[in-house]
Amino acid sequence: MIRKIIHIDEEKCNGCGICATACHEGAIDIIDGKAKLVREHFCDGFGDCLPGCPTGAITFEEREAPAYDEAAVKQAQQLKQQEKIEIPLLVDCVKYEIALEKYNRALASIERALDIISVGRSMQYVGELHFLKAQVLSCVQNSIDKNREWQDECKRECFMAYVVFGVMGKKEEKEEIYKYCLEKLNWQITEQMMLSD
Ligand code: SF4
Repeated sequence: MIRKIIHIDEEKCNGCGICATACHEGAIDIIDGKAKLVREHFCDGFGDCLPGCPTGAITFEEREAPAYDEAAVKQAQQLKQQEKIEIPLLVDCVKYEIALEKYNRALASIERALDIISVGRSMQYVGELHFLKAQVLSCVQNSIDKNREWQDECKRECFMAYVVFGVMGKKEEKEEIYKYCLEKLNWQITEQMMLSD
């Protein structure tokens, strides 16, 4: 259908994220430091995101787009609320279980958190949880056997975390993972790997 929807001029966007916060429907994400309308069916065309934009990067346009899906927006908002409450608690719980060397429990908490997030949008936690998983696997497997399979699994988890933080433009977190891989796994993540992913 042809309808009114927002348009984001990426040249003007400075990635501040004000629009993503202002959009109650959750239609906008910040990806690679730029705002993107990633869920067109979440955009109601009212433009709550427009007034706060400091660079005037957002305008309206009339174009072919999927209809606004109120039910999907409500469901996403509920999941987001669930994420907001449960995920920080689960991440704390994982760290506590690691400190107590309760690795199986930590892994179960990580999987539970990733299950909740996979239907929501807390990217920051996705990266953190994959990195925590790599560290837990390293602790568990290193003490059981010395074969290299566990290392491959750790590398996969580290790489996932690295990619997520890369997409989010989180340099410090990327560096921490890079250093961990080098020191603990004797393995170097390269930009080539990122491109071939
Ligand atoms: S508010 Fe404007 S400048 Fe900030 S992220 Fe959104 S579009 Fe970009």
